[in-house]
Amino acid sequence: MSIYRKVQAIERVFASLEREVATFQESTGMKCLSGCGACCKKPDIAATPLEFLPLAYQLYKSGQAYKWFEELRAEPEMANCKAFLPFVSEGDRGFCNQYNQRGLICRLFGFSAMLDKQGVPQLITCKTIKTEFPEAHSVSIKHIADKQPVPIMRNFYFQLRAIDTDLGQTLMPINKAIEEAIKVVLSYYSYRQRRGA
Ligand code: SF4
Repeated sequence: MSIYRKVQAIERVFASLEREVATFQESTGMKCLSGCGACCKKPDIAATPLEFLPLAYQLYKSGQAYKWFEELRAEPEMANCKAFLPFVSEGDRGFCNQYNQRGLICRLFGFSAMLDKQGVPQLITCKTIKTEFPEAHSVSIKHIADKQPVPIMRNFYFQLRAIDTDLGQTLMPINKAIEEAIKVVLSYYSYRQRRGA
């Protein structure tokens, strides 16, 4: 499958997730605190290269892929996700500068459930949502306990893996995942250019 087709397939999975998240949010009132980027500041976010293939593809199309790749390689211990831009103003909140191309974990976190050892869905959300929106949090817990629809993390990882098992298999630090995705895209187009395709 070409990179373009893979990107399209990944975007279809993301679109389906967005619909499920929207339904869950409408039913429960769950939302992020406006302007909050706390989850992106976590130093240990793990992701697969595949979920960042759309970002890598867009960077390639806009001529930024090589620059990102070099910057990621030059700073392997980068503290935050490369796509995270902290505000310099009061409050030091942050935001994603690649929101439309963010990865699967970025879309799932806060509004999805993980199956526990007994196969029972457990809400995965953050401390900020829990403390800022306690009512919505309680409604969500009940909603899930009542077996109402919630995006299940595992299902979306399976769907991505079906697109490319190798790139969707291994979890790694988020910046490494972005770097690997860019490497795949650069190699793919460099090969095609050499062949004059
Ligand atoms: S890609 Fe964007 S949303 Fe995901 S961790 Fe990085 S800054 Fe946050």
